[in-house]
Amino acid sequence: MKLSWKQGLSVWAATTSCLLLAVWLRYYLTDNGFIKEPNQTYDYIVVGAGTSGCVLAAKLAASDSKILVIEAGGEPPWYSWIPIVAPILQGSEQYDWRFRTVPQKFAAGALHGNQAFWPQGKMVGGSGQMNFLIHATGSPSDYDSWKVPGWDSHTMKKALDRLTCWTKGIVKPFVARPSFLLDGESEMCSAPVLADIENSTSCSENAQHFQCPSAAVKLQRVNATEKPLLKAFLDAGRACGHSVSEMDRWSDTGSFMASHNTIEGKAGQRWSTYQSHLMPAMKHYSNLHVLTKSSVTKLVWRRNKVIGIQYLDADGRIKHVKAGKEVLLSAGTIKTTQILQQSGIGPPHVLEPLDIPMKAELPVGENLQDHLQIPLFVELNASVSLNIVKMLHPRQFWNYMVHGKGALATSGIEGIATLTKKREDGKPSKPYGMLILFNMGSINADVYTSVANIKKEAFHRWFPKSSSLSQEGFVLISICLHPRSRGHIRITSPDPMQPPEIDPAYLSNDYDVQCSIDTIKEGVELLNTDSFRALGARVHWPTFPECGSKQGIDNQRYLECLVRMAALTMYHPAGTATMGHKDNPDAVVDPELRVRGVNGLRVVDASVLPRLPSGPPNSVLVAMAERAADFIINKH
Ligand SMILES: Cc1cc2nc3c(=O)[nH]c(=O)nc-3n(C[C@H](O)[C@H](O)[C@H](O)COP(=O)(O)OP(=O)(O)OC[C@H]3O[C@@H](n4cnc5c(N)ncnc54)[C@H](O)[C@@H]3O)c2cc1C
Repeated sequence: MKLSWKQGLSVWAATTSCLLLAVWLRYYLTDNGFIKEPNQTYDYIVVGAGTSGCVLAAKLAASDSKILVIEAGGEPPWYSWIPIVAPILQGSEQYDWRFRTVPQKFAAGALHGNQAFWPQGKMVGGSGQMNFLIHATGSPSDYDSWKVPGWDSHTMKKALDRLTCWTKGIVKPFVARPSFLLDGESEMCSAPVLADIENSTSCSENAQHFQCPSAAVKLQRVNATEKPLLKAFLDAGRACGHSVSEMDRWSDTGSFMASHNTIEGKAGQRWSTYQSHLMPAMKHYSNLHVLTKSSVTKLVWRRNKVIGIQYLDADGRIKHVKAGKEVLLSAGTIKTTQILQQSGIGPPHVLEPLDIPMKAELPVGENLQDHLQIPLFVELNASVSLNIVKMLHPRQFWNYMVHGKGALATSGIEGIATLTKKREDGKPSKPYGMLILFNMGSINADVYTSVANIKKEAFHRWFPKSSSLSQEGFVLISICLHPRSRGHIRITSPDPMQPPEIDPAYLSNDYDVQCSIDTIKEGVELLNTDSFRALGARVHWPTFPECGSKQGIDNQRYLECLVRMAALTMYHPAGTATMGHKDNPDAVVDPELRVRGVNGLRVVDASVLPRLPSGPPNSVLVAMAERAADFIINKH
């Protein structure tokens, strides 16, 4: 039977609607355990149900204490579980805090007003509910460089090992065993949370019997045999003399590998810590209460002890809850900083002009850092990439709904490379740069320019083929892993609902510019290898007028200008409540994450990172929150 194009369109629309309805039903009609009114007192109050808060709350709930999790956002939307739609959550009034930086002096040239937009999750699951799902463990030297007792590479390796086990075949902590790679497994799990698993001493001791509980964080490795573009990336890395492993390695030597994404393999859905930790704990423990749409505004004090919180409920009424033991701030770098300063913990030059009584003089808000990405478009002749036409094919919807597979079950991130340099003594340097292979040929100009605040004209000079929905290509992302620029977050009003001033001082340190250029050069070199030539790969150098008419890899002036024009946030703000040794004047929290000089208060989120790890930080934060829960349980 032959259908006219109108009939074909109707069949397509009907099939798509049915499948979308089925996705909605699958995710939405589930029982939840949220409360409407909290009790007067809890043992612990966890502020923020994001990546760290979900882990912390679930672990503490297993200790029989009474826990309140208070979250400013609501439940995440059903479509947030579909990995490929992650970017759509950015810019949403309901699910994104929509922070903006102040105009940047040395960066953000392609952005309106030189202002970077900083999406951060405002919902249960936090930024982990809208992120790009990359799993990374960092490198050993990251943790040793922190010089914080109890957080060295040895301890962090154990914490990260404890998170990660294979679901099938040989069950071993993967970071300890890079050699298992050839097993061909594609799924792992991590972070045992419920009591039965909790009792096991480690994954490896339980190796023969360990089964991933449904509550475990799951990881999916992108399979190079099914992804020609990833295969080309790995082959190109090898051809350029880099080591290639199919797995993340616990090493400082750098390597190219397939990305491991926090996606559950069977249903093909996002696996945030809401899914892995909080959701099962809410089902399992009646001593865990979760209150949503309630924004914490201040801490409540008795002398130098924090005894509770003040918050605005869903109807805008001011309310209070007491904490018998501790308040745990997991509101993410920006809001945790704001709550601390608003409550009188911060530097005098921030608090005094606002007449906020000083409770503890600490450098809260300083040391702000973020990873920057420089995305370059690489055009291809071969049909090996994802694009909008391929993604919207009814087969993709069917494949996703029935098998949990296909384009919708991916984040588009396929390959990762950690780069090192050869030092004068012939040994490799510590990792300095990262390349990410983002398989996406067509990029929607309206979505991208609005979520990243990019000027339309600049965008078209950067991604000239963006109007074609069937374009073949990918985005090669270059990242300087250890930027030296440091900025700040400061409140500018005593009103807790006013957003703070955010100034990351991007590229204020010239090291960051050269480090980004070195990373770009390594990336572009890959395209001259046989594997990429066979796909017809050609990098598109953006033609920004500010950068002159001579584009290309040999023009240092052009590359410097490119970095200052086109660097965008990688969404990893950190460091503003940094942890450190008790004698370190830059430290806001001690090695057990207690706020110095204050009783009853800890910070457990990205703000305590003294320096960003060599990669996206989400999984590192999961390991840190698990450790923090151990400190808390052991103390009380
Ligand atoms: C778009 C995007 C892509 C990313 N991609 C990756 C990636 O691929 N891999 C990776 O490793 N990392 C990625 N990251 C970074 C990673 O997700 C974050 O570093 C991590 O989620 C931060 O965890 P957190 O616990 O510090 O804060 P969050 O997860 O942001 O949680 C903070 C929570 O606190 C709540 N909150 C804030 N203020 C209040 C208040 N006053 N009262 C009550 N609740 C409050 C927030 O609504 C939020 O739910 C990405 C981040 C973003 C935004």
